[in-house]
Amino acid sequence: MTRSSHTDEREAHPPGEPDDAEQADERRQPAELFRDLRTSPSGLTSREAARRRLVYGPNVLTRSGGRRWPGELLSQFTQPLAILLALAAVLAWVGGTPALSVAVVAVILLNAGFAFVQEMQAERAVEALAAFLPPTARVVRDEVRCEIAARDLVPGDILVVSEGDRVCADARIIEGTLSLDLSALTGESLPVTRSPEPSDPTGSLLEAHELVFSGTICSGGEAEAIVTRTGMHTELGRIAALSQRVHTERSPLEKQVRRATWIIAVVAVAIGAAFLPIGVAAGLGWTAAIGFSIGLIVANVPEGLLPTITLALASGVRELAAGGAVVKRLSGVETLGSTTVICTDKTGTLTENRMRVTRLWLAGGEMDADRAVHEPQAALLAASAAACTTAQAPTPAQPRGSGDPTELAILRLAEELGVAVVPSQRKAARRTIFPFDAHLKRMSTVNDEAGSATVHTNGAPEAVLPCCTHLLDPRGKSVELDAALRGELSATIDGYAASGLRVLAIAHHVLDDGQKAPAERSATESDLTLIGLVAMADPARDGVAEAVRDAHLAGIRIHVITGDYGLTAAEIARQVGIGHVGSPVLAGDALDRMSDKDLDELLSRRQEIVFARTSPEAKLRICEALRARGEVVAMTGDGVNDAPALRHADIGVAMGRSGTDVAREAATMVLTDDNFATIVSAVDAGRRVFDNVRKFVLYIFAHAVPEVVPFLVFALSGGQIPLPLTVLQILAIDLGTETLPALALGREPAEPGLMSRPPRSRKTGVINRALLFRAWAFLGTISAALVMGGFLFTLWHAGWSPGDPTGSGTPLHQAYLEATTITFVGIVACQIGTAFAARTDRASLFTVGVWTNRLLLWGIAFELAFTAAVVYAPPLQHIFGTAALSPAQLAIVAPFPLIVWGADEVLRWVRRRHDASRSATPATSVISPLTEGRTAEQAG
Ligand code: ATP
Repeated sequence: MTRSSHTDEREAHPPGEPDDAEQADERRQPAELFRDLRTSPSGLTSREAARRRLVYGPNVLTRSGGRRWPGELLSQFTQPLAILLALAAVLAWVGGTPALSVAVVAVILLNAGFAFVQEMQAERAVEALAAFLPPTARVVRDEVRCEIAARDLVPGDILVVSEGDRVCADARIIEGTLSLDLSALTGESLPVTRSPEPSDPTGSLLEAHELVFSGTICSGGEAEAIVTRTGMHTELGRIAALSQRVHTERSPLEKQVRRATWIIAVVAVAIGAAFLPIGVAAGLGWTAAIGFSIGLIVANVPEGLLPTITLALASGVRELAAGGAVVKRLSGVETLGSTTVICTDKTGTLTENRMRVTRLWLAGGEMDADRAVHEPQAALLAASAAACTTAQAPTPAQPRGSGDPTELAILRLAEELGVAVVPSQRKAARRTIFPFDAHLKRMSTVNDEAGSATVHTNGAPEAVLPCCTHLLDPRGKSVELDAALRGELSATIDGYAASGLRVLAIAHHVLDDGQKAPAERSATESDLTLIGLVAMADPARDGVAEAVRDAHLAGIRIHVITGDYGLTAAEIARQVGIGHVGSPVLAGDALDRMSDKDLDELLSRRQEIVFARTSPEAKLRICEALRARGEVVAMTGDGVNDAPALRHADIGVAMGRSGTDVAREAATMVLTDDNFATIVSAVDAGRRVFDNVRKFVLYIFAHAVPEVVPFLVFALSGGQIPLPLTVLQILAIDLGTETLPALALGREPAEPGLMSRPPRSRKTGVINRALLFRAWAFLGTISAALVMGGFLFTLWHAGWSPGDPTGSGTPLHQAYLEATTITFVGIVACQIGTAFAARTDRASLFTVGVWTNRLLLWGIAFELAFTAAVVYAPPLQHIFGTAALSPAQLAIVAPFPLIVWGADEVLRWVRRRHDASRSATPATSVISPLTEGRTAEQAG
């Protein structure tokens, strides 16, 4: 059962929907509620539930608030950068250049439109995640427990609430006891106890201790309750903030880019302002100088950068969700990319979580589980173990059964040995239950059997054996469990564990006739008689070994933190390739005794560790110690108590199938397939998204240089060289040719070698020195040299020498128009080269494939068509001050893309060689000790 759905759903409620007054008064006695809601402890029938679903509507919180997009669109115009541009437009108008003013307004409109569409898409991607994690509820229907979509819950359903669940309707408890965290409704985070006994009917509803409410969390125990209110009729529905928005906080990446954007905007304004007096001194009139200043500012303010990044992160989120990893925050995608340590649990993540009892140990001997059919002692063992379970064995309606896989394995054993439990009989016989406790690592029930009370206890051997004083001998008699027998047991347990089996000890205590079981847990779980041991296999998942290898290659270390026994966990770790011979296996009690300093020292040794029999607190401690060392930690968890560690880790990873709602809510990422391999592919995706953001930042930054240099040349030559580029041509580049290729770069496939580099340091920003060098000093400078060369060559070819007039009416004017057009087309050509160059960060483009990014090819096609229109369409020639270029002139700019891209290929080749010679020196690989270990192991 999971959170109440907060989807934006507006299903029409049928006319007959009852209003609040008609919904049941939840404070009545169960018998009255059963009568009023026409239900019973064995639940509704599916047909009746379907009918009620029509009458009451879906169990969801509807969102009011109407359309938001006009407000969102408007907010794009109130962004500081948009206001800056608007100021420039006003200045241009006042300065007497209305055409420029209109062009700037067009830039603002186009950018706002793009930003709006991108942000809406990003938001939609995050909202759509709800569909990947549909909330479910456990109910009794058609007399059996089953799991249904929470939205199909109706009044009258019998809801089963257990530890870790988020309650998803208002209900009255009819059986069982639980502790409830009401903080979602009351703000009070101390859990309260809830049980069937009615409370004072005059108190407030929220204080009534027989009621549970939608949106609250069960922090312990288990209970059955009659659903009294659903959807908007629940207490949560009443007080729900009516418009639930997805909270999208800015990621560090976005913050960083925002800061950089501002710095660039300030620099652009400074350059623009500096140009004003220089332009006037160089012979431009004030009007023209103001126009150029504005043009420079508009061209260099990277207003489209931020929404493009948000969109890149959002498409990362969408892609990850489709691959089985639901990342709940955009920033999660980027953190994933820098993960250095994965702390994983074992059961269900590294293993299949499909357990099967394979061996049994009884006082009379040790045997294969499937050879135990005619062994009465084995049947007794299985029956006792099965009595102490809450899971439901598979039925035709629910072929996978429901509940803990360990218990399902026990139920299956019982069935195979002819002592299958019938859930109703198990329930009828049960007097008390002490649920499985992750600290105690055991579970007990007290049953009424043949007139006397019997205690049944299952659990980890070291948690059960200390409670045992006797052992059931082959004749069915209790004999004292002496030191010799304990030694023999301990050797057997280690033998099982060393082959990767999970061992449970099964014990019972038949109380004398009339003797009552004690109320306290510790007293109940004492004086037990050990019946035997069951050993179950849970094979490693397919694909995990490969994922572990990939993680190692990517410089990521993996620690196993499990509740299971050390030897069992170590064997599974060995099977999937985690650690090596001699890797430390640290048990929970040893860890508890260890000082923080020693733990730090252990973790600093760059080896992989198996932490066994750990408590949830230990998980938090390990996580803290790793983070204090500067590691970026991804930590898995599934229980209620894991929530603090999940929150504290950089990436808390919860299991979509087997985990609790509480863990899923605390986590940053939820695995819908519970598979370790998905964590590694998410890291891969995170790295790729970060890389792609760098790619389009590089692309956008690189084009600033060839736009600014022509102005500098004009100004520094004191007007001897005429302006190589008109201000409207700059705007044409900004408007028409830049955005689509930038977006396309955000969709680049992963570069080869992405997962064979060490993790990016948390401190490495998206915009670093290497990127600025490549954008400005390399790609930008080459482009600027090429376009200036083209411009000067065209003028010189027409007979121009420095200082000659080129204004309208002069003989050189036509040549001047052609030369500026060469600059304009040259910048576009260099942009194309830059786009291809930016596609890879280190690898050669040939290894990725020159034509593999279709979107980029389309973007470039659009860029070329737009440029051709500006150059050849007479009305546009008039506006942008361009002239048609001859084929010979086009031949000047045609090689520009190849030159820019080719130069960058050479730069990357040099860098690759440099990296290769560096990594040839030993001790740089994070995982070298492991590799050595594995070699030793193989050799041994
Ligand atoms: P992980 O933390 O890797 O998921 P785990 O599932 O083995 O490991 P726990 O669920 O904390 O960890 O279980 C710890 C131990 O408690 C198990 O090794 C087993 O011996 C015992 N145990 C687990 N489930 C039950 C159960 N339902 N009834 C009795 N004992 C159990």
